[in-house]
Formats: sequence, structure tokens, C-alpha cells
Amino acid sequence: MEQRRITCVLVANRAEIASRVFRTCSSMGITSVAVYSDADQDAPYVQEADVAISIGGNTPAESYLDQDKIINAAKQSGATAIHPGYGFLSENASFAERCAAEGIIFIGPSGEAISAMGSKANAKDIMEKANVPVIPGYRGEDQSNAKLLAEAEKIGYPLLIKATAGGGGRGIKIVRASSELEQAIDSAKREALNAFGDDRLLMEKYIESGRHIEFQIFGDQHGQIIHLHERECTIQRRYQKVLEESPSPVLTEAKRAEMGKAAVLAGQALGYYNAGTVEFIYDNKTDDFYFLEVNTRLQVEHPVTEQVTGLDLVQMQLEVASGQPLSVKQEDIQPRGYAIEARLYAEDPANGFMPATGEILRFSTPEVDGLRVDTGVQSGSVVSMYYDAMLAKIIVSGSDRSEVHAKLAYTLSRMQCLGLPNNIQLLGAIVADPDFQKGEYDTQFLAERIDALLASTSTVESVDRAMIAATLQGWSQRESSRTLLAGIPSGWRNSHYQPQSISYHHNEEDYEVKYRYTDGTFDFTIADREYTARIISSQSEELRLLINGIQTSYTVIKDGTHYHTHSVMDGSTLFDLIDRYPATESDDVSGSYTAPMPSQIVKIAVSAGDEVAKGDTLMIISSMKIENTITATEDGTVEEIYVEEGSSIKAGTVLLKMQD
Ligand code: ADP
Ligand code: ADP
Ligand code: MG
Repeated sequence: MEQRRITCVLVANRAEIASRVFRTCSSMGITSVAVYSDADQDAPYVQEADVAISIGGNTPAESYLDQDKIINAAKQSGATAIHPGYGFLSENASFAERCAAEGIIFIGPSGEAISAMGSKANAKDIMEKANVPVIPGYRGEDQSNAKLLAEAEKIGYPLLIKATAGGGGRGIKIVRASSELEQAIDSAKREALNAFGDDRLLMEKYIESGRHIEFQIFGDQHGQIIHLHERECTIQRRYQKVLEESPSPVLTEAKRAEMGKAAVLAGQALGYYNAGTVEFIYDNKTDDFYFLEVNTRLQVEHPVTEQVTGLDLVQMQLEVASGQPLSVKQEDIQPRGYAIEARLYAEDPANGFMPATGEILRFSTPEVDGLRVDTGVQSGSVVSMYYDAMLAKIIVSGSDRSEVHAKLAYTLSRMQCLGLPNNIQLLGAIVADPDFQKGEYDTQFLAERIDALLASTSTVESVDRAMIAATLQGWSQRESSRTLLAGIPSGWRNSHYQPQSISYHHNEEDYEVKYRYTDGTFDFTIADREYTARIISSQSEELRLLINGIQTSYTVIKDGTHYHTHSVMDGSTLFDLIDRYPATESDDVSGSYTAPMPSQIVKIAVSAGDEVAKGDTLMIISSMKIENTITATEDGTVEEIYVEEGSSIKAGTVLLKMQD
């Protein structure tokens, strides 16, 4: 194997993973090149690269997925290697081959290994031959309903349907009884065709209480392959990871060794080199494990492994890609302590995890020993609808599970991501859950407990205190501007201190906050709840308040009529000032359907004049890679359609109207 020194790397990706790769490039004396779309021109990673090249466009297809643009940018900048990050072109075999043909090093596995693992059915065939345990199921070419129905009976229920070409958790369906099967097959086929351009399905036994345990593998181009132990990624929503940790709380040394061996076997079966991950589903009831898939790239959660092994996985990727042999042997890998990663997503957990867009007014993280923050955003960043909703990764490592959980909880309660809905408080609630702390959970953990977890993140009092803080910020600001005005008639002061009232709107409820000021003390009444408050200090967005005997700090950011508040005790709260003279709201057009958020129109399933039944698909819209199906809420006839396929629309746009 000929060695080629890598001197300049282009990262064909964006946000936190681009920053992550640049960090290692600079420590290795390698020049870094960023590419960026129009939507990303102000993103922090662009500034961090030595050189950044504008590739225009907004959607992935017209930017980070456009192979010609990426290859041209590499040539223009003199990059001799391309790091694909994760997502986008990272698991695209034709791109890996194209790089090779252009004389550019692709920092990843061979195109052959990528394409062998691209089909879940093919991947499982290969693994079965290599004696890696595979879940019983059907993955044949005969995709007729009759065949699928017959095979389902053999597998038994519950079973899982997956798109053979699937990924990112999309297109996965649980079927609990034969009566549900036909409908599930039809909708899975439609979804698979729409998302992956391939409607082939596979079916397998559903593991009722399963854990997602994956092994990091690493190979070089000299035939060596090792594993870097496991990451447990069982806490998921929508079949997508939310928290990842290592070591797994359930693995015995013997089981770890057995699974590690199976992971290496899987890599060997592929002649695998560079970084890869072998995913397994682990059955809580039997302790058996089964191969799920190989992700042929660096994973989102690779920092967990870096923290416990002390290795720089990006450095290893660059070394292996330049033809060097692996610098570590299996016996050198001795993980220490415990590490966890929490994914910060711009999404609203209380609203079905709907992704959120908008400006981040303030992003800050505390200083904590053992904390690593890999982020793609900063204060002022605008989160667009075009890309993934993951904003940052909060990684904490230390000597053991409970110490690290305590530090993660501390970090989450102090960090601020104000301006748009996000999952910080949900993450905090998960880490505080006793079963989570004990390691007793399965992949259904979030789905089963979401309501209780969310309820634990906010109380009536925490909302009241947030509104008191907002009110006192306003009072302080009026007070300081008043003292700046010389010669105010004394009578003005008296009327100013009359009982006051201000109203806010939070979670579909109105709150009237009444207060009276006497001698430095405010008496607040909200509904039948009473509070006594004092301002200890107040400096624009930061206030130190004493409320009912508890003194603590509040951040209050006002953006138009929106308030974003945060305190360590109460977390963040979002609410609106109710205007004293509200503008009359435009009447809802009856029978109209509107977009819940900024989106792209993926597909329009109906035309004007069509008769539809309740539940029929009207339109598919997409935002941040999550597709939303707009279905008819009642029977009727489509009167008019106001949007076109492919167009980008704002939240609240009327999509179509039904006849009354
Ligand atoms: P990991 O396995 O590394 O934790 P995921 O499986 O959640 O990550 O997703 C892997 C990568 O692929 C992520 O960057 C994610 O943004 C991206 N991804 C997930 N779903 C899709 C999709 N439908 N289309 C394109 N990229 C996706
Ligand atoms: P993707 O390519 O979308 O990541 P995977 O096959 O890796 O698809 O599965 C995603 C998730 O679905 C897993 O992490 C796990 O939570 C769940 N899952 C997959 N297969 C099974 C199964 N047979 N039984 C139970 N859960 C499963
Ligand atoms: Mg997977």
C-alpha cells in the first residue's frame, strides 16, 4: 500500500462535524477547507476553516449533495482529500469512487464496502455467512403482498418492517397483528419509495425490550481491524439517537468480548478499512444480540468513544486514509471511566418533537470539568429549515456513571439555548430518571415516559417566576429611564406606583400578573398565587431576584413580544406579552390547511375537484429532513391548492382549501 501524505482536507459537510474535523486538521498541520451553502454563509464553521468555498444553494441537493460542486471546490482549493462527515455524501458509494477516479483521497471506507452495506438485506446476508448473529426475518426479492404475508406468519408478531434502502430511522413500522400487516406494507412501500427511491422492504422479528448497542470498528488498508468497544444508544425518539454512553450498563466482560469479536468479524467480512460502526440490537430478556447494520462512516456519537479511549478518531481516519497502518493494537485499547453524549436538537418535545427553526438569541454553556461541547451554532445563529435539527453535542466524561450524570445534569441546567424550542429540559429529565440512572431501560423508554418526563420539567410556580422576572425586567428598565429624566413632577411618581397589571400567554393559556410596589418590595398575584419579590440587581438581560425567600439569577431576553427566560432553578420558559390593544387576528379560512412550520412541499397528492375521505393524504411537506403528511381531517372536496411541489413556504402558509 502506497502512502500519500495528506496536506489539505476539504470537509464536504457543515456545522459541528466540519468544526470537529478542522480541529484535528490544525493539530496535525493540515490545511482545512470548508464548503458552504447560501443558508450557511454565517455559520461558525465557515470562519474556522483556513479556506472556505461558497457552493451556493440552500437545499442539500443543490449544495452538500452536489458531487460536481464538491469536486470542483476540492480542485479549486488544492485539497487532496475529502472528509465527508456523516449524512450527505458519507455513505454514497459513487461519490467515494468518483473521488478515487479524480485522484482525491476519500476519507472513509472503500466504495465497495459502502455499497455492500447500503442495502440492509444484502448486509444481513453477508453477515449471516460470516457467522455474525442476524435477527430471524424475511429479506427476499419476492416483494408481493402474498409472499410478505406468508413470511410474516412464519416470523410471528410483533414484527418490524424496514425499508431495505432505509436509514435515519425512516420507514420503520411495528406490526403487532396480521390484521395490521397489509396496510403497514402499503404505507411502508410508499414511504420507502418516496424517501429512498426504492420500495423494497424487509421484515424481522421485533425485539420487545431491546437495547441499541453498537461497536466502533477501525481498519487499515493493510488488513488489520480492531474494535474500540461499545456505545449504548438505546435512548431514542423516532428510532433516532438522543443519548449515547459508554460503557453500556448491561454488558458483562464476557458479553462485551463476544460482541466485540462479532463486530470485528463483520468488518473482516467486508475487508473494511477506516472508521465504521456495527450496530446490534440486544435483547434485555435473553441477553442475545443481533446484527442491525454497519454505518460506513464516522458517527455523530464518536466523541463518546474518544473520551473513554483517549483516541482521536478523526486523526486515525486521516492516518488510515493516507495509507498508514493503524497506530494502535486491540490490546492497547483499554477504555477508562464513563462518557455520555446528549444531542441538543432544535425541536419541540411537547409537540411530537416537531423540528424548530429560527434565531438562537443566546447560546452559552458553563465551564465544567470533563465537559466537551461540539457545536455548530453560537449566539445569533439562524437555524434554517434545510438541514438536520441537531445543533450541538454535550459530551461529559469522568470516572463513573453517577459522577458523570451529575455533571451532565449540572451542565444542562446551566446551559442556554434561547430563542427557539429545544430539548435541553427533556434531556435533563431523562438524566434525572432513576431507571435511566440505574441503566434499566429499552428503546421504548422515551415513547413510554415522554408525558411524565415533560411534566417534571415545568411547574406552575416555575412559569410564574419566569413571568415575574420578565415583569421586573420591564419595571427596572422603565425605572432607570425615568431617573435619567430630570425634573419629573413628583405626582408622576405616585401614579407610577399604583397597582399594575400585565398579561402573558404561555402554552395556550393567559396569565394576568398583578403587582404592587412599596418600599423596594413587590407583591405579586397570579391567579390565586402570591409572591413577594425584590430586585437584588438588574443589568439589561441579567437579573438577580429574591422571590418568596429564594434568591437566584434570571436571564430575560425580549424579542418583540416574545420572552425567553432562563434560570438554573426553573430552566427556560417561552411566553408572549399580550398586547393591551391586540390587533384583530385574521380569521381562519374555514376548511383550510396551513403549514405548521417553514417547510418545503415534497408532494401534492390531490388536485382541485378531488373528493377525499377523512385520513387521506393531501400533501407531504418536509422540514429539517422530517416529513409531515398533511391528511384530510374530514371527508370533502378539494376546492383550491395554493402551493406548488418543490416550493419553500413560511409557517402558517395556507396550503389548500376544502369546499365547505
Ligand atoms: P448516527 O447513527 O451517527 O447516530 P443517525 O443514524 O441518526 O446517526 O444519522 C446519521 C446521519 O445521517 C446523521 O448525520 C443524520 O443527520 C443523517 N441522516 C439521518 N437521516 C437522514 C436522511 N433521511 N437523509 C439524509 N441524512 C440523514
Ligand atoms: P436505521 O438505518 O434507520 O438506523 P436500524 O436498522 O439501524 O435502522 O434501526 C434503527 C432503530 O430501530 C434501532 O436503533 C432500534 O432502536 C430499532 N430496531 C431496529 N431493529 C429492531 C428490531 N428487530 N427489534 C427492535 N427494535 C429494532
Ligand atoms: Mg441504524
